[in-house]
Amino acid sequence: MSNMDNTVIEKGNFDVASVSNSKSNMYCFQFSYLYGDEIYLPYSIGILWAYARTIPEINNSIQNKGFVILRENPNDIVSRLEDPKIVAFSTYVWNWEISVSVARIIKERYPNCLVIFGGPQVPNADRLGDFFEKYPFIDIAVHGEGEITFSEILLEYVNDKKFQTVPGLSYRGFTTELRPRVRDLNTFPSPYLTGVFDDLFALPYQYHAVWETNRGCPYGCTFCDWGSLIAQKIFLFDEERLIKEMEYFAGKKISHVYMGDANFGILDRDVGIASRIALINRNNDGFPKKVRVNYTKNSTERVFQIANILNKQKLDKGITLSVQSMDPETLLTIKRSNLKYETLSAFIKRYQSEGIDTYTEVILGLPGETYKSFKDGIESLLEASAHDSLWIYRCSVLPNAPMNDLDYKNKHKIKTIKSPIDLHHTEPGKDPVQEYEDIVVETATMQTKDYVRCLLLSWATQTFHALGLLRIIAIFTNQLNDVRYTTFYERLLEYAEQNPNTVLGKEYLRTKEKINQAITNGKSWVNIVPEFNNQTWSLEEASYLRIMLQLQTFFVEEDGFLNYLAKTEGFVLEPKMLTDLLKYQKAIIVKYENTKTEEFETGCAINSFHRNIIVGKKEKLQYGNYRVIIADPYNFNGDKNRYSTEILFWGRRGGKTFYQTCKETPIEQEYTDQLKPASK
Ligand code: SF4
Repeated sequence: MSNMDNTVIEKGNFDVASVSNSKSNMYCFQFSYLYGDEIYLPYSIGILWAYARTIPEINNSIQNKGFVILRENPNDIVSRLEDPKIVAFSTYVWNWEISVSVARIIKERYPNCLVIFGGPQVPNADRLGDFFEKYPFIDIAVHGEGEITFSEILLEYVNDKKFQTVPGLSYRGFTTELRPRVRDLNTFPSPYLTGVFDDLFALPYQYHAVWETNRGCPYGCTFCDWGSLIAQKIFLFDEERLIKEMEYFAGKKISHVYMGDANFGILDRDVGIASRIALINRNNDGFPKKVRVNYTKNSTERVFQIANILNKQKLDKGITLSVQSMDPETLLTIKRSNLKYETLSAFIKRYQSEGIDTYTEVILGLPGETYKSFKDGIESLLEASAHDSLWIYRCSVLPNAPMNDLDYKNKHKIKTIKSPIDLHHTEPGKDPVQEYEDIVVETATMQTKDYVRCLLLSWATQTFHALGLLRIIAIFTNQLNDVRYTTFYERLLEYAEQNPNTVLGKEYLRTKEKINQAITNGKSWVNIVPEFNNQTWSLEEASYLRIMLQLQTFFVEEDGFLNYLAKTEGFVLEPKMLTDLLKYQKAIIVKYENTKTEEFETGCAINSFHRNIIVGKKEKLQYGNYRVIIADPYNFNGDKNRYSTEILFWGRRGGKTFYQTCKETPIEQEYTDQLKPASK
């Protein structure tokens, strides 16, 4: 709703008079991170321009001089612009700071240039607050779906009309009425099929693409801004157009396609779309190579069919189950409903039996969560077999998420800090402008000290269980001695604290200090391990790599931890079992040194028992003499760069930290086999 109805709006400090004779130069900004030579095509702003240029008045008066996507020094970027009259920025949390840095300089150098900001990072009209005081160089903030609003702004610009006639925006003194969502998304031409990005293909980059088959999300999880931006009803793009877009990606040799849908698999037609993707991939030399999907969270059968289709074609390596929390109280507080535990657990096992990887995501810091409920959630996910695939993220408060509502924040006593956004697996110090997010460090149900405990438990669970350094031992003590997984890792943290001079103890102290610095002083969460690639790693990945440098000592010292665990949890670990477990645990981890095939004997069927548990099958542990042979297919030969890239960077999703070729034979059987006549 306009708060200045019937008011004549002054022409802003941008030039609307000089456009009549020649085309005005416009630049479209959507900054992305460059990974090697790979970068995303700017879909969000591309579709705005694809629609705007269908309007002859705009096309005749405004020239899109190009898309600016690369994160470079803002001064360098601006110095390359030629007399910009209009600049439009598509923003999200990961490109906000660089966008405002560039916009600020543009306004200094070109005071008459019209500066337009849109995207999810622009606060909704009712949350604008002092936005225009804080960012005086921004002329117009676009709220919500942007295609039509953007075109109408350009028309206003061309015709020197008044911006108060354009719904869906704010301009300093006024905010116009909300614009209803567009029901027929096919109104907007595809930026891919209409050649909007053609010029970008002349640049030396490999592009990734965002692909949108529908818009809207019927859910309203309070941590998510998706609902607020395009809430409720799902509107569709035509299938014919979608197939053509997919063929375009294949033709352009685009390797990665990221689906922009909130809930792929929510519609019946999605199974057919997945089949068409697989067909296109088959007919085009395997392009696109990967299609990453945000699956709908509650539809099991359809999602299973889609995951199967994509997995068979090696298009999507697995399926992500974003449970976010396992606590009913928390789910109520964040307005989210999940699959029931039994269904989720059966779901994970079904995927695993089909050879489809599952990744389970949890968010730490959600209102309603306590240390205990968080810990119980991790426990139940591990019980449900999410052993090598647990991902724990920090809760970020996005500007337009319901969680950022003042009443909601007050009610749940949400305390945030401004924290650097860390990019993992990139060269440190390369990014010209640091981005930030607001992360939750305290709520009514979780004091900061408990948040830190959760972070440490997450670190321990991910480093030693998900990445596997102690997973075998945790599984065995869980199955044979009834030690809860989370108890195992809590005891590990205690032992680390009490033994600061061990490899484990030093790693614990280093991590604790890093967490403390991040929370207290807003320092970065990322880590560098100089012995490996010159790139950034998460807390658990860095710990994993540093421990790999001292693996022998680490395992010698773990003997002490296991004795501590047995003592505190009141069970007896047979010396032979202890030796076997440590031997197998150490052997199964992929190493960077020149490793040959490892061969040893055990007193029970550790390998088959562990492999069964991982896929959710519980069978009795078989005792007896077994020969275990573990083959090393990598031959890293000390190449730490290749090791960390293949095993941790690329391989973490897919459980590459363990050797997969492992043969376990009962020794008697082996003897009998030797007596068999050799085959001719
Ligand atoms: S988290 Fe997913 S399901 Fe929830 S509102 Fe956001 S997009 Fe919708």
